[in-house]
Amino acid sequence: MIGVVDTVVGMRQASALGRLRGRIVGLVPTMGALHAGHRALIDRARAECNTVVASLFVNPTQFNDPSDLAAYPRTFEADRRFCEEAEVDYLFAPTAEEMYPHPLETEVRLPRLAKGLCGAGRPGHFEGVATVCTKLFGIVQPDYAYFGEKDFQQLVLIRRMVDDLNLPLEIVGVGTVREPDGLALSSRNARLTPEERRAAAAICRGLKAAQSAAASGEADAATLIAAAREPIAAEPLLRIEYLEIVDPRTLDPIASADGEARIVAAVWAGDVRLIDNMPLA
Ligand code: AMP
Repeated sequence: MIGVVDTVVGMRQASALGRLRGRIVGLVPTMGALHAGHRALIDRARAECNTVVASLFVNPTQFNDPSDLAAYPRTFEADRRFCEEAEVDYLFAPTAEEMYPHPLETEVRLPRLAKGLCGAGRPGHFEGVATVCTKLFGIVQPDYAYFGEKDFQQLVLIRRMVDDLNLPLEIVGVGTVREPDGLALSSRNARLTPEERRAAAAICRGLKAAQSAAASGEADAATLIAAAREPIAAEPLLRIEYLEIVDPRTLDPIASADGEARIVAAVWAGDVRLIDNMPLA
């Protein structure tokens, strides 16, 4: 039976008890509306830890757009069943009042890593993410925390924060789970119209085009970006916010993809913002 915990004190106690019994605690932070992408994180945690905690918290401080926060899907009962089915031990689902009983005086900032890509279009977003993850790590005190590569900038930033602040846990990155047509699973996909949903598959096709061009020896970033842009730009329902090739450690744009490189994209389909990324060979 899954334990649903909605208080900070309750979660701390459950986690402390687990550790006293010598258990390895794994945390999977989520905002709910759970899908097979989240399931991959939970399964990985289940394989590596003996106490698995999933958190479900639609964190208001990481939404710079109030209408995006209001439109974010909230499906608690389905999420609880999903976690139970996935053999999660504890579902930590606090209210915003429980997490923020008073306005925070403290904020975690990674100004350089948060500056570009999603940070440019969503001011304050990564400060909200880094701060709430620090709080979740402090509350759950996990040995491992699991994050999807789908949110690549977030993964890089959280890894760096844990390293910079010597937080006593390890961050594990998990590969992106996709629909059969390549679209990365996302809680936001449910908001796409059927036409937008069909068009959205072009994002993955674009990234793959760049990936195969890179695999056949093309290293010029502008050429690779043009290859990725073509199928996306061909869809009138899609609008590119950014499409860049970056160094996967610094997230700085690079001119040549001859070393480690990642192609990253944010694309709007109607009023739904979708992100995706892939490594280049
Ligand atoms: P979210 O609930 O959207 O905040 O996502 C919670 C976690 O699930 C984050 O670490 C995401 O990167 C991860 N995630 C979301 N979608 C996917 C996906 N399609 N594949 C793998 N991980 C994902």
